Amino acid sequence: MKVLVVNCGSSSLKYQILDMTDESLLAKGLVERIGIEGSVLKHEKTGSEKVSIQKPMKDHKDAIGLVLEVLVDDTNGVIKEMSEISAVGHRVVHAGEKYSGSVLITEDVINALEECIDLAPLHNPPNIMGIKACQQLMPKTPMIGVFDTAFHQTMPAVSYLYSLPYEYYEKYKVRRYGFHGTSHRYVSQRAAQILGKKAEDLKLVSCHLGNGSSIAAIKNGKSIDTTMGFTPLEGLTMGTRSGDIDPAIIKFIMEKEGKDIADIDNILQKKSGVLGISGVSSDFRDIEEAANKGDERAKLALDIFAMKVKKYIGAYIAEMNGADAIIFTAGIGENGITMRESICKDLEFLGIKIDNNKNNIRGKDAEVSTDDSKIKVLVVPTNEELMIALDTTEIVNSL
Ligand code: ADP
Repeated sequence: MKVLVVNCGSSSLKYQILDMTDESLLAKGLVERIGIEGSVLKHEKTGSEKVSIQKPMKDHKDAIGLVLEVLVDDTNGVIKEMSEISAVGHRVVHAGEKYSGSVLITEDVINALEECIDLAPLHNPPNIMGIKACQQLMPKTPMIGVFDTAFHQTMPAVSYLYSLPYEYYEKYKVRRYGFHGTSHRYVSQRAAQILGKKAEDLKLVSCHLGNGSSIAAIKNGKSIDTTMGFTPLEGLTMGTRSGDIDPAIIKFIMEKEGKDIADIDNILQKKSGVLGISGVSSDFRDIEEAANKGDERAKLALDIFAMKVKKYIGAYIAEMNGADAIIFTAGIGENGITMRESICKDLEFLGIKIDNNKNNIRGKDAEVSTDDSKIKVLVVPTNEELMIALDTTEIVNSL
């Protein structure tokens, strides 16, 4: 069974096609500048060189149309005809409180996702556009929705409710939703396999550290708390996002600098985080390079990031009354050798001991703690596309 995985942004579309008989990746690609001059499709068939196809694409339907053309193409294609695609799995950011798992997309599901546009104004509209475009071009193919928020729907009210007047939750559903759910679910299941245990028997702290970063406390296979909140702005210090701050700072800066709320939103989303602190870059490789050359603010940005992660690890171990393993994933989690070391430093009192030799790896499954570390430290590369394809296969097989 072949599954197409689609992830639509406002002007971009990422895709992968997987053969689920052996979970192998047949091809992947990216369409950029949809609806903007210079639209381009970059396609990579597994084992072949990447190809670029420039062609005007006015909307997501044009983009999906070109992707399907390339997939059946004699030279770059991986299938003979479109009907070989058994199902399409769509990444959707926000499903509100409605879905706690992946679902077959029906008219009702689309309506529910449209109701969540208020909660994710930048993400849900292109996600929905992608679904509708695929439905038009592949009317007989089942579409499955996999939601970033779904995995965190198991959080109890003590974790998801803010200390605000309760009416805002009742009237507007203001609460913690959490994101990166597909990634946290995937790496927690992989971690259980690596540890040779069932996810239901484990307490895990999953650290997804990339441009956007979040941590989840996963007890008995269920998310019970996570650092991102009502939006992906809360929690850890990120590439350009502030994470947790005292909300009173907003009014203070607005008054001091004569800013309006749109300016503040822009500052918190795009000019803060390690970029704001260091003044160097949002990319951890650049910041590490600057810090190694003696840039004090770059060093401070890295230290603040590590301290925030450490704080939440401690908090989540307390919330779960212990932990079996800490998982590191995503760009920094998978590749940041010194970052993992800084985060785990001085956590021996909790039973966390990193082995510097074992930790000297990037981008592959590994246990990087010492043999006597009570809490294991794991590096697990995330694979959200595979998780989406697995959910899609499971749902289609049950139809
Ligand atoms: P996104 O949230 O965009 O998916 P990624 O998971 O790709 O982000 O993570 C991107 C981050 O990972 C960047 O800050 C990048 O610097 C960092 N990263 C990638 N490789 C390394 C490396 N070798 N060492 C340290 N950080 C790295």
